[in-house]
Amino acid sequence: MERAGGKELHLYDTLTRQIQPVKVSDGKQVRIYCCGPTVYRDAHVGNLRTFLLSDLVTRTLKFNGFEVDLVQNITDVGHMSEDFEEDKMIAQSKSEKRDPFEIARDYERRFHNDCAALEITKARAYPRASECIELMIDFITKLLEIGVAYQGSDGSIYFDAEKAVDYGGLSGNKLEALKPGHRYEYEEVGAKKFHADWALWKAAGNRKEMIWQTPWGAGFPGWHIECSAMSLKYLNNHVDLHIGGIDLRFPHHENERAQSNPMVGGEAVSLWLHGEHLLFEGRKMSKSSGNVVLIRDLIERGIDSLALRFCFMENRYRSQMDLSWDSLKAAHSFLARLRKSYKTTLTTEPILTEKVSEFIDSIVGDFCNDLDTPKAMLKLRALERLEIGAGERRAIFEILEPLLGLDLLSSRPARPLPDAASKLLEARIAARAAKDFALSDSLRDQLEKFGVLVQDTANGQEWSWLVDF
Ligand code: AMP
Ligand code: ZN
Repeated sequence: MERAGGKELHLYDTLTRQIQPVKVSDGKQVRIYCCGPTVYRDAHVGNLRTFLLSDLVTRTLKFNGFEVDLVQNITDVGHMSEDFEEDKMIAQSKSEKRDPFEIARDYERRFHNDCAALEITKARAYPRASECIELMIDFITKLLEIGVAYQGSDGSIYFDAEKAVDYGGLSGNKLEALKPGHRYEYEEVGAKKFHADWALWKAAGNRKEMIWQTPWGAGFPGWHIECSAMSLKYLNNHVDLHIGGIDLRFPHHENERAQSNPMVGGEAVSLWLHGEHLLFEGRKMSKSSGNVVLIRDLIERGIDSLALRFCFMENRYRSQMDLSWDSLKAAHSFLARLRKSYKTTLTTEPILTEKVSEFIDSIVGDFCNDLDTPKAMLKLRALERLEIGAGERRAIFEILEPLLGLDLLSSRPARPLPDAASKLLEARIAARAAKDFALSDSLRDQLEKFGVLVQDTANGQEWSWLVDF
């Protein structure tokens, strides 16, 4: 069912600290850049909360008739770890004893799978840092020509922080307040003119991997220059909306703004959007807290990955959010109920009435109001109790699905079977065909550990969930 949209999306802009409308500066498309993953490990569900932000924005804009051009980078070189001052890719390559590019391609593939599991809209392009080195060299060359960058005594090229206009505008970290020795950025003591300057290009030094030849010698790019170079190249010199997690406000986005603005002679980004962090069962999600949760962990527990999407939407992107297994299970059951409820409407044609329009407009209004998705989700919960006919209910489901992305019209099983369990089921069919009953029994026991109950019937092997929540 089609319905005309047309509302403007308003979002909280970190720079002006005000709610601003999202503008289409070229009159054609909203140009969006979302900082992507550093592909040395799996994205955890916290990272995915931030990546979902670009999807929520994109769906809201498209629902309202806007065209969107979305670009998201893949960081596969140059992102230094804060603890070890080593490239995250190279550190991982040492610990896995594998080629860093091989690791990057693996985790990149897994990132795309995770995004698909959350129905995150695909970007038009996913440029890789390692394949945009020329772009970065050109960008740095221009910054040198403009006179806001210089070569340090160690051969690296630095951005001259004191030449930045309005440095600190995004994060509030003014140059005067940044003390020397403050570990906010990888630095080579003594090589820079000023302690707050940051590396655009690092001289290779002893590093042998992931280095490139340049007019200034061999080396590798800094992390911030990657996003400046890619966003302006891929989005034709202006970004209408720039997205990332709150931790990227400083130094990443502050430095990116300082680099990009002199290139375009004004504000390169119209609106800076930052998503707050996700906590899990009360604690910051981190390796050291031992509470890193991946999409795979949800699937292994039989939880629909879209239950995570629903939980995210039950919370405002600008607030810290605490996720728990209980809230995921509750969301899982709710989605299953909604899908069942949609199926019961299929005997009737969809009907567009005033009540339907009011319901939809109100939910769209919430999305447009700085992504007030919690309010919209409360309304979605109330849909179960709304006194409307089946045709009206059907219309609501069908019209809203492209905005919600919850796969409410699907016939997907309420609880997807993990890959490992389907392999065991196949192996058991083969074992029974070969009359290897000892193996077939052992496979039945293994399946039970996944919560899968197997029965042998006249029609062959059948399975069901031991417990359904
Ligand atoms: P990374 O792969 O580490 O470069 O991070 C990818 C994105 O995830 C960035 O936009 C981060 O700001 C964001 N991020 C990191 N940790 C969290 C978290 N706990 N909750 C939400 N977003 C996060
Ligand atoms: Zn970035």
